[in-house]
Amino acid sequence: MRHAVLAGGVGAARYLQGAVEAFDPADVAAIVNVADDVTLHGLRVCPDLDTCTYTLAGANDPQRGWGLLNESFHAMDSLGRYGGIDWFSLGDQDLGTHLYRTQRLAEGATLTEVTAEISAAWGIRAALLPVSDDPIETRVTLAGGEEVGFQEYFVRLAHAVEVSSVRFLGVEQARPTAAALAAIESAETLVIAPSNPLVSIQPVLCVPGVESAVRSRRSRNVAVSPIIGGRALKGPADRMMRELGEQATVVGIARRYQDLAATLVIDEADSEYTDEIEDLGMQVIAAPTIMSAPGIARALAETCHRAGQAGASR
Ligand code: GDP
Ligand code: CA
Repeated sequence: MRHAVLAGGVGAARYLQGAVEAFDPADVAAIVNVADDVTLHGLRVCPDLDTCTYTLAGANDPQRGWGLLNESFHAMDSLGRYGGIDWFSLGDQDLGTHLYRTQRLAEGATLTEVTAEISAAWGIRAALLPVSDDPIETRVTLAGGEEVGFQEYFVRLAHAVEVSSVRFLGVEQARPTAAALAAIESAETLVIAPSNPLVSIQPVLCVPGVESAVRSRRSRNVAVSPIIGGRALKGPADRMMRELGEQATVVGIARRYQDLAATLVIDEADSEYTDEIEDLGMQVIAAPTIMSAPGIARALAETCHRAGQAGASR
């Protein structure tokens, strides 16, 4: 495996789309967060895996950022009539994915196996690897003291509330899959995708054995900053970083990743921070990182890969 990526949702999916254009897709592997997975209506829903799947399939809705293009929501309307849980929208086509996954898990398939089946059905050749087949659940404590599930915070409350802490229930007992660990260990370059560092990348790293596997190959690891000009492009990453006492800038990202990656790719807009990040012991590359077009993602993947290869010879 040439190119492995620690992945959350949208930012990672856009990056992966560039990587499969830059390299043979069979040489690309994503190690994907499972801590925002949730069971709703008895169905197992894996938002980050599905975002990666639908994006690599070219079937995602780029406007919404989640779910499938040309989606309808008749099942949700029906659910609303009964007073069912309708704050987490599941499209009619998307529901087919969750029905299939839930059935296969009930039959005894692992999440890794089901994910491989789903991605094969979409014609995806890159490997989408859940970091663990065991359940991990992000729990968010709000400033008021109440603890809620991640999707309740993110979707029901529209992340418009202050957070005081985050924990990953079940992570100590979770085991990384053999495929995920092998991808991390064998990749020429390992990229930490521009995903939410606190709730997408952290729960991947917290699975026992993952962080040490990442650290031990630091010179060939490259992180891409999800923060540009002090802001997240979408979602609450910047606010969460501030609320949890970190600096919501590329320097805050560097502090988080300095022991994990030798190189940090920051957006051109943040090049003024280069010296400050280098003082933390990271090499800095300033490049266009807003992946608004596939060409930008492809160039970014090529830049990251070269940096990892250069790191190997240092
Ligand atoms: P999810 O889709 O909610 O699971 O979100 P992610 O875990 O992917 O994290 C969202 C983060 O990705 C935010 O901090 C965004 O700024 C970042 N992000 C999304 N798209 C891009 C992009 O094109 N470039 C960069 N640099 N960051 C991005
Ligand atoms: Ca997510």
